[in-house]
Order: sequence, then C-alpha cells, then structure tokens
Amino acid sequence: MDLKSLIRDIPDFPKPGILFRDITTLLRDPEGLRYTIDFFTQKCIDSGLQADYVVGMESRGFIFGPPLAYKLGAGFIPVRKPGKLPAAVYSIEYELEYGTDCLEMHQDALHPDSRVLIVDDLIATGGTAKATAKLVQKIGCQLVGFGFIIELRELQGRKHLPDVPIISLIEY
Ligand code: AMP
Repeated sequence: MDLKSLIRDIPDFPKPGILFRDITTLLRDPEGLRYTIDFFTQKCIDSGLQADYVVGMESRGFIFGPPLAYKLGAGFIPVRKPGKLPAAVYSIEYELEYGTDCLEMHQDALHPDSRVLIVDDLIATGGTAKATAKLVQKIGCQLVGFGFIIELRELQGRKHLPDVPIISLIEY
C-alpha cells in the first residue's frame, strides 16, 4: 500500500518554513490505518524487537503506541508534557530550536529489567526521541529500539539516538 499517498502535506504549519506531515488523513482511512499498524508490528518482529513496554510521547505517540503495544503483547506507557501525570514523575529537559521543552514519565511505570520500545509518529531532529531515551535509561531499562511512522531523513535525527534498531515506515 502507498502510505505516502495517505499523508497530507501542509506547508508553513505550525510556522513558516515547516512542511507539516499530517497523519490525520492516514488515520481516517480504515485500510490505511490497519495496514500501518500491521506493517509496523511486522517490522518490529522482523527486527527482533521484543519489548515488555511501548513508550509513546505526547501526543501522536499516543495514537500509534497503544495499538502497536497491543499487537506485540506489550504494555503502553505515556510520556507527557509537564504537569499532566498525576503520580510522582521523572522529568527531562531538552533543547528546541528556540528554548527548551520538558517531558515527564511516572517513576513507577518501568523497572530496571524492562525491555522498552520508544514510539512516535515522526522523527525530525531526533530531540524528542533522544530525551525520551534518556528518561528510560535513567531508570536503567533496556532500550530495545525506536519505531516511527515517518522519518525526515534530511534532518538526520537517527544520528542523535542510541545505537539500537530504528524502524520507520515512510521516509522523506
Ligand atoms: P523532533 O524532536 O525534532 O524529532 O520532532 C519530533 C516531534 O515533532 C514529533 O512528535 C512530531 O510529531 C513533531 N514534528 C516535527 N516535525 C514535524 C513535521 N514536519 N510534520 C509533522 N510533525 C512534526
């Protein structure tokens, strides 16, 4: 299936110069959605990625993470923007183009012997995924890999990630 044809390109969103890859048009397509999740799952299996938990980042990691976790027989753990999670959290600050951002995860969500797969809709500079990896590694977990629906190759985000398998379904 031509997944790229289901992704809508929106120029200059959310700010001038950004070509936004809109996955809502993929999500609303029943066959496209099913194919994406099945293909994602198969790629993880083919790459030998065995995880106890899928960790997904707010907010589009919450869309693809849970169905993938379900298919892999894993649990799902949300990583959220500050102040959203109710119990004690670990936080990580990371650099954006302008300023910094922060992500949080519940302290009791993972234990040191957990095998973790980090999932988001898209990797651009890799900053978000790298920060999430640091959160996971802070607990001493085994990071088994990363999974993205879309990879913007030009930005070389994967260069900044730890040396584990990195899966993406669509490349630009
Ligand atoms: P980065 O930390 O630079 O790898 O950015 C990844 C995060 O930003 C992901 O959660 C994406 O959803 C979002 N993002 C970055 N660039 C784009 C883009 N061109 N189109 C859609 N989402 C993007």
